[in-house]
Amino acid sequence: MKRKIHPADGGDAVPSLDDAVVYLDLETTGAAAGVDRITEIGWVEHRGGREIDRGAQLVNPQQPIPPIIQTLTGIDDAMVATAPPFAEVAPALRARLAGKLLVAHNVRFDHGFLRQEFARLGVDLQVAVLCTVRLSRRLYPHERRHNLDSVISRHGLRVDGPRHRALADAVVLADFVAAARAELGDAVVVEAARKLVTVPPAARPADGLGLDALPDTPGVYLFLGARGEALYVGKSVNLRSRVFAHFAPGTKVAKDLRLAQQVADVRWFETVGELGALLLEAKLVRQHAPIMNRLLRDGDDLATWFWDATAGVAPQLQSAAQLDVAAVDHLYGLFPTRTQALRALRGLADAHGLCLKRTGLEPAGRGPCFAHQLHRCRGACVGAEPAVAHDLRLAQALHGLRLATWPFRGRVGLVERDPLRDRTAIHVVDRWCWLGTVERAEDLDAPDGPLARDDAMPAFDVDTWKLLSRWLKHHRHEIEVIDLPRAPADAPV
Ligand SMILES: [Zn+2]
Repeated sequence: MKRKIHPADGGDAVPSLDDAVVYLDLETTGAAAGVDRITEIGWVEHRGGREIDRGAQLVNPQQPIPPIIQTLTGIDDAMVATAPPFAEVAPALRARLAGKLLVAHNVRFDHGFLRQEFARLGVDLQVAVLCTVRLSRRLYPHERRHNLDSVISRHGLRVDGPRHRALADAVVLADFVAAARAELGDAVVVEAARKLVTVPPAARPADGLGLDALPDTPGVYLFLGARGEALYVGKSVNLRSRVFAHFAPGTKVAKDLRLAQQVADVRWFETVGELGALLLEAKLVRQHAPIMNRLLRDGDDLATWFWDATAGVAPQLQSAAQLDVAAVDHLYGLFPTRTQALRALRGLADAHGLCLKRTGLEPAGRGPCFAHQLHRCRGACVGAEPAVAHDLRLAQALHGLRLATWPFRGRVGLVERDPLRDRTAIHVVDRWCWLGTVERAEDLDAPDGPLARDDAMPAFDVDTWKLLSRWLKHHRHEIEVIDLPRAPADAPV
């Protein structure tokens, strides 16, 4: 099976081991191409089966190298501190790879990393690849192990320099292929390789989407389809690298590739910080209900228990999607299904000797509840336990499930700052509802500002509740909180 590579990157035939070949090895800060970065590139270049160049390049990963990786590779933070970042070595590397066959041990890893690094620069790397793990397996099917150490010892290869450094490992790959050719014959090895060469599918060209204007700032982006329908809403602390990553199919983002193929338009909104991006993302997801976000959601309709301890009424099972903001202080637990919510309350009733009638788990009516007949319920159903005492125990039982209550006295402004860009955002929030964001305090009172609205509070939104309560738990100390007045219409009575 022959597949074409993009003519722009050199030639339309799939290269073979006898053409231009780059044996390559990367060292990185870790195993995740989306997060980790390259620290060293080693290569051995062949043409017509002969070496024409070899070398290694340290790369500044612009993030710390975990100690365990430093120990493994011998590359530490100090060594890469003065090395150029990937952006600076990218043009030469791209030229080195263009139209060649990229050979690596577990090439999905190296290719995935290269593709991510290039994608961060807005470049789609297109190159034919060959995996020496698969080649070794194909040529030596009776052998069980094909990791690099096994290959080295099986073929008696010499390792110049420390293992797990990029150049030493790249040399080993070239030597392995040479050893196999000597042992099995050129024709056998070249033919076996030919069957294993693949050209990973092209990324959707981001041309025409105007992505060059994407900023390196936090924000939210929206992918639209050909009919203007919302496909996906995402957020990032770096809009540019995140959006470009969608258009670079690595090994783990096949879903991204399918998504990217459908994108006809991209909109984005800069925010001052992460909190602003989270709030806007939740709002846009709610507004547009994009297809991909709906597929990714972990259960749309969560169930929760509403119970007002002072009302003398049993807990009520409610959908978290349709809650009134006034209910927020009386909610217990978020459950993926109603059955799980019921099971949780029943478990508490069991453990605490509560009454099944008083908790609403059995229909009200005369006579003892089922639990009382088993001597578990202490008898609120038959007047043996005062209702107040029972409800006090119910409150204790439910306490652990209580959703975070609004931690401020009233309406507040959560002030997020970016000193580098000299920008400020004041997010106006009241009882987990986001009312709006302004950049300057004087805009709070503007006619269309977040404090001016005299209509009712927006509906309680479980996603905003989740993101705000989680965010405040971890980042409360990073922001300033200012107290703001409530509009008269929804001031507490
Ligand atoms: Zn009872």
